Amino acid sequence: MAKKKKETPITGITVSKDEDFSAWYTEIIEKAELADIRYNLKGFVCYRPWATISIRKMYRKYEELLEKNGHLPLTMPSLIPESNLMLEADHVEGFAPEVFWVTEAGSSGPLNERLALRPTSETALYPMYSIWIRSYKDLPFKRYQSCQVWRYEGKMTRPFFRGREFHWIEAHDVFATEEGAMAQVHEDMEMTYQMLQDEFCIPIIFFQRPKWDKFAGSVNTYAADALMGSGKVLQLPSTHYLGQNFSKPFNVKFIDKDGKEKYGYQTCYGPAISRIYGAMIAYLGDDKGLILPFDLAPVQIVIIPILIKGKETIVLEKCDEVLKKFKDKYTIKLDDSDDSPGSKFYYWEMKGVPFRIEIGPKDIQKKQVVIVKRHDGKKYFVSENKLEKQIDEFAGNYTRELKEKRLIDFEEQIELCYERDSAKEAIEQGKIVCCGFCSIDMKAYRCAEVVEKEIGGLVRGKRVDEEKHEFASCIICGEPATCTVYIAKSY
Ligand SMILES: [Zn+2]
Repeated sequence: MAKKKKETPITGITVSKDEDFSAWYTEIIEKAELADIRYNLKGFVCYRPWATISIRKMYRKYEELLEKNGHLPLTMPSLIPESNLMLEADHVEGFAPEVFWVTEAGSSGPLNERLALRPTSETALYPMYSIWIRSYKDLPFKRYQSCQVWRYEGKMTRPFFRGREFHWIEAHDVFATEEGAMAQVHEDMEMTYQMLQDEFCIPIIFFQRPKWDKFAGSVNTYAADALMGSGKVLQLPSTHYLGQNFSKPFNVKFIDKDGKEKYGYQTCYGPAISRIYGAMIAYLGDDKGLILPFDLAPVQIVIIPILIKGKETIVLEKCDEVLKKFKDKYTIKLDDSDDSPGSKFYYWEMKGVPFRIEIGPKDIQKKQVVIVKRHDGKKYFVSENKLEKQIDEFAGNYTRELKEKRLIDFEEQIELCYERDSAKEAIEQGKIVCCGFCSIDMKAYRCAEVVEKEIGGLVRGKRVDEEKHEFASCIICGEPATCTVYIAKSY
């Protein structure tokens, strides 16, 4: 039964997100019980149930979409022989500094060949692709796996955002032609918009990355930058056009219709689910705690009884009745613990539960319940006989409302800049700079270094969708501009 307790939010978030994002993020991770950093191995954290449930739901949505678009799932070993990893030179060079190696086994001591803990699976999959793919009839060949990968990350680690172990999906596809492969790159980008923007409510924009920032071994990299609303961007899924850079060393060949043997054209796509989860909680959350899209919330509705002495039974019975009404349709929980209603409100708001239903003796008298929406705090008095219809309608609209409210306009964050000083100022004010650049090929690398040093942001690349702005000259060297690029600080 209810005891009198203080209404102070002992469990609530105490730091303002706007004032100190980093401290806010750390607190939400701990208090909402998302991850535990006490595992005592840098870059490795335990994901707790509240995060794991949402992450699994995200996986399921992504996997369904990949399969709908013709991908089949598979499961690869997590160890890759060093000789495989060495087959594509740029790839080795790019990944070598980050690989964890297995060098010994049991009591037999050192291994004959070092084994890499997969940092990504190109070099695990493609030797198998060369066995599995025989003819043009096998193409397009589209596979994906959901797994963990390991990279010895030198930068500061932060739960979900950046770790030495992360959880992702990698899709690896083979086509007969370059056109087929490029169409896949576009499908990958389309899937990213469908998942990140429509389902996870994170605004993104795709850039073709400069050559110095592309995936090791790829011809071109297209990466989504999430707009975090803080002037900083975060790289989320990227898709890579590999051309024949891997099919040649790995012998991924097929007999074409004309009877000739040809090398395939490849793509790979890597949505890092754990990172997307981090971006989602960081972007959507507020000073009360988490805000989650309806489908991803581990608990979608919480019922809180308002207990008054002598009326406990009648209230709890009503709560139970409402619980039974929805339990087959939604994830719903009745919080009949001893805490005060106020503490429960704070707690479940912090956990990001989309709807709270309050039921007290007065409500029962008026044949109504109170519904409170987490994302905007709006309160509704709903009569009992309309409850089912109302909840269905609220549930059906929740994610779209959240998305519409939080989808910031990319254009509003942009500042057009023509010289270094104004660009520097814009970056300091948390803007994304749009300017002319001599190129995004390696020859412009020197200009990009100056950008990093003097302007204080990174060249994110060339917009993949329509570019409306044109510039005459490179903002750094003054040479004629060949493209328009965007410069931003990044996480
Ligand atoms: Zn330049």
